[in-house]
Amino acid sequence: MNIIEITAKSLLRKQKQVDAWFCSAYGMNIYRGCAHNCAYCDGRAETYQVEGDFGSDISVKVNAPELLRRELDPAGKRKPMKRTYIFIGGGVNDAYQPAEEKYRLTRRALEIILGYGLHVHVLTKSVLVERDIDILLKINKAQSAGYNARAVVSFSFSSADDKISRVFEPGVPPPSRRFSAIKRLKDAGLYCGIYLMPVLPFITDYPEQIEAVFKAGTEAGADFLVFGGLTLKEGRQKEYFLQALRRFSGAAGDLIAGAGDLPLQYDVIYPGDPYKPGSSYGNARPDYCSLLNEVVFTVARRHRLPLRMPPALFRGIMDENDRIAVMLEHMDYFHRARGHKSTFGWAARKVRELEAPASAMGNRLRSVSGIGPATADIIGEILATGTSVKYEKLLYGSM
Ligand code: SF4
Repeated sequence: MNIIEITAKSLLRKQKQVDAWFCSAYGMNIYRGCAHNCAYCDGRAETYQVEGDFGSDISVKVNAPELLRRELDPAGKRKPMKRTYIFIGGGVNDAYQPAEEKYRLTRRALEIILGYGLHVHVLTKSVLVERDIDILLKINKAQSAGYNARAVVSFSFSSADDKISRVFEPGVPPPSRRFSAIKRLKDAGLYCGIYLMPVLPFITDYPEQIEAVFKAGTEAGADFLVFGGLTLKEGRQKEYFLQALRRFSGAAGDLIAGAGDLPLQYDVIYPGDPYKPGSSYGNARPDYCSLLNEVVFTVARRHRLPLRMPPALFRGIMDENDRIAVMLEHMDYFHRARGHKSTFGWAARKVRELEAPASAMGNRLRSVSGIGPATADIIGEILATGTSVKYEKLLYGSM
């Protein structure tokens, strides 16, 4: 590992709106590059402009705590920050990669978040997060604008299979160890999620493998499970992954039946665009995505794990309209994932544009273009009960 200490100009990344995946409008990369070196890592793609060898040249923003303290300070802001989780993780680094053992910058970021009474959502593959249970619990007990502040720790997985993980996630603890970390964090009193992302086509997308993740997640006490397929952006990310895939397919007959055909199968579902390196989203073909969605929804119906961060975890964290918009976006996703048309995404946008809280709009909500009577009824139900019957069915894989 080659550590490069850098002084950054800014740290906090602000999004225009609260995203529905992590329930956050602010994120940060304390490190750039990741020694976990997962073969499929999206952070390698040219679009993120991480220089050097992604898995071994690790830039450390040594002034991250000073930047964060300044950027979160309400005294320096004309407008208050959006009420939301501060997201740590994802993007171009894992905040608990090996360099964190020495630098402890993520821990200091948590201390600053605690000091400001804010909420945090951490996503990692590393069990080093267990070191910070004490401070995460303090965040959970703090008070923020009349509500209990909250800390959510999520772990990402591509499967529950320790042997396959060793090939594609060489620098992280095996899934079995990550599940035991979830259990430990849950027993301590924290909220925990699972991001089953990316599911690897023809390697970890079999129903029995998806089932194994749901089962282990349920047994560990996880609060939700979000899944997503593999994206392969043309250029560095795709090339690096295909090299690992070829090595795996040549030597993995004992792990996956028909492993020798994998490169060919990937060619079919990731045709890509060779003329635009790094520019495409790298999604798999829609027919493959539909099949994967159906497999996951079928398995999910046998378990009681919400397929998105459930409303109980963001109620009291976000402003009313943001909370409703996130739930409508969840509904939009579930409808589209099944190949159905949906207007919920558009309605979510309209809710975000409202100048008053939805609860203050009364019947006027029904006539807002893009919302309409049916969605206004769902919003009314959410305002009265915190959720809606239709939303709950979708959240657990039904409909
Ligand atoms: S842990 Fe996350 S950021 Fe690090 S290499 Fe793996 S996928 Fe990339």
